[in-house]
Amino acid sequence: MTDDDLKKTLADRLTTVEARLLAACQRASRPRESVTLIAVTKTVSPRVAGLLPGLGVFDLGESRPQELRRKAAAIPDQIRWHMIGHLQRNKVEEVLPLAQLTHSVDSPRLLETVAAAGKKLNVRPRILLQVNASREDQKHGFTFEELPMLRDAILAFPGEVAGLMGMAAYADDPEAARPAFRELRELRDQLQLSWGRELPELSMGMSGDFEVAVEEGSTMVRIGSTLFEGLEESDG
Ligand SMILES: *Cc1c(COP(=O)(O)O)cnc(C)c1O
Repeated sequence: MTDDDLKKTLADRLTTVEARLLAACQRASRPRESVTLIAVTKTVSPRVAGLLPGLGVFDLGESRPQELRRKAAAIPDQIRWHMIGHLQRNKVEEVLPLAQLTHSVDSPRLLETVAAAGKKLNVRPRILLQVNASREDQKHGFTFEELPMLRDAILAFPGEVAGLMGMAAYADDPEAARPAFRELRELRDQLQLSWGRELPELSMGMSGDFEVAVEEGSTMVRIGSTLFEGLEESDG
């Protein structure tokens, strides 16, 4: 595809996603501006991702540090990069200077490593705490039970703990995701009270379930396949 064809395809898909987002916001009596659309570019080439700023999308998500570094170097525009994938501790120092927000801080040890790296690099990491919202054993994230006990580490964190991130179990029916999203929001509400801190961001909702997530209070939806399916793939 030429750049023009690609841009047309992306513009059409964005229009559709925007309309669905707006409708979900209206059903929940929320302003459209209360939800950030993060385009998850992990599967597509830097060329495809690089067309997004021209279409008004400046929040891009990546799940691997190497691909984040590659795309950040290739795309000159001012992008807000979101690190959304599981982060190994030895990659933290590479990611922190690039990512505006790291969604995937998913264990006490990783939280500790991010705090130490922030001090060492003299940056204030902005993070979300990833919760294992689907309660599946093989999934990453803090459990609902352990997160409340992290109070001291959170209050001492040398950066900004902006909120929570979570994923529902995969299902064909988006409604199946609703209980997990609701539980995540309720956990956030409870932690705000017990920690005495605002946790304004709730990163939840993907291509298959973002409307339900918005109805349940999501402030950041992470959308990949609905925007990028079938487009030039990343070779990174
Ligand atoms: C890939 C990915 C997404 C996007 O998923 P789609 O179903 O393609 O929209 C969202 N969040 C995370 C953490 C991902 O890894």
